[in-house]
Amino acid sequence: MKKTKIFIMFAFILVFVLVISIIIKKRNNEIKHVFLITIDTLRADHLSCYGYPVKTTPFIDSLAKNGIFFKNAFSQSASTCPSHASIMTGLYPSEHRVIANGYILDDSYTTLAEILKEKGFKTAAFTSTDRHFLASNIDQGFEMYEEPLDTVKTYGYKYRPARLTINNAILWLDNFNVNRKLFLWIHLFDPHLPYHPPEKYKEIIRKQLSKEFLEKFVKKANVNLEIFDNSFGKYYEHILNYDAEIRYVDDELKRFFGYIKNKGLYKNSLFIITGDHGEGLGQHDWLQHATQIYQEEIHVPLVFYFGGIKRKIVKVIDDPVENFDIFSTVLDLLEIGNFKEKVSSISLRKKIFENKKVRKYVFTERQFYKKRKIYKKKLPFWKKMWEKGIKVSIQDKHFKYIYRSAFKDEFFNLKKDPYELKNIKDSNEKIAIRYKKKILKILSNFKKTKVRKVNKKIIKRLKSLGYVE
Ligand SMILES: [Zn+2]
Repeated sequence: MKKTKIFIMFAFILVFVLVISIIIKKRNNEIKHVFLITIDTLRADHLSCYGYPVKTTPFIDSLAKNGIFFKNAFSQSASTCPSHASIMTGLYPSEHRVIANGYILDDSYTTLAEILKEKGFKTAAFTSTDRHFLASNIDQGFEMYEEPLDTVKTYGYKYRPARLTINNAILWLDNFNVNRKLFLWIHLFDPHLPYHPPEKYKEIIRKQLSKEFLEKFVKKANVNLEIFDNSFGKYYEHILNYDAEIRYVDDELKRFFGYIKNKGLYKNSLFIITGDHGEGLGQHDWLQHATQIYQEEIHVPLVFYFGGIKRKIVKVIDDPVENFDIFSTVLDLLEIGNFKEKVSSISLRKKIFENKKVRKYVFTERQFYKKRKIYKKKLPFWKKMWEKGIKVSIQDKHFKYIYRSAFKDEFFNLKKDPYELKNIKDSNEKIAIRYKKKILKILSNFKKTKVRKVNKKIIKRLKSLGYVE
């Protein structure tokens, strides 16, 4: 009898200890603070962790090394507002209807911020451009939303530098109670034209950026130097400035991360760093972004970093993923359900923890252009590259198909031809057609709902800043 009592007591203590340890473990692994950092115009191959020979991102490299490093992440659009609207809703631009800058995200769409706010997270956003996201209603769900006004007047150029946007975020966080759950979005714009990197960062890059490397790159990626007035020197300075802006942003993120640690927000946190799209930099006869969907404009960095959460993770993910998968992954990691059927983005949770394949291909689209006035204007040849009609792409690790409604389609073997220089559609008709069918199926599933433009005054302002054509 006595023995039985002792046995029951032991069993009870054992169960009690087990339950407590499960609760403690769950608490330790619970994400309380989510930081989403989007860096504008950041093409993946200019980050040192993605193989760039210049140390542009020592801080992001360190997060990538100790977190989850997505080697092949792609944006859903090469434009700022459509891409950000996709991250915030888990929908493609054709679904959320912010098909270009200057269009409105309807209130009927549910954003990540709205869901997290409802689940008790304090939601805040600090962005760096003038009338971009607020005008497009992408601030939905943020209790605290801050963006600069009259940037040219205030800062001397078209956006607020990273240092000042981060300072504002820090000022707000100073009064934040760390015991509360938090979703914080910071958008930094510095790698977007026009470039104004602090001189210190230009010198850091100048010491490392070799002319030989860039000369070789011009040849292998077929960079069109006519865009730089046929001057290699001008091209070199352009790249130098772009890289210096990236290096500057990286240092600012390091400073912000230091603050987060001191403030006590590091534990139980998830940091996500990504770009909204890349930049042409002279490849495919294009300097900037928005109009093309070649790799240089849509291959973006993506890093997840868990602060103070100990779980077995897959550190390097090679499979192609879409950066709007952030939406579903965050909700899944926070164990918030009921969103899967409603969105096109996919949770990467099983990839991160179990290395299971979650995506077969990635899809990107560009806004529909009607025949445009721009064709009539006297413009340099490369500005006439605007194509009318639909332009969308689908790709996996091997092949990429670009469907164009007004021009000949393109099909590339990405393994043999990573810079997409040789269209092999005609010589590989059988394989190409399989990819085209997938594209047509996706397009046929999009419902044609109405688009809404932001008011004329704001459009005028966006045009003057060069964000809308
Ligand atoms: Zn952008």
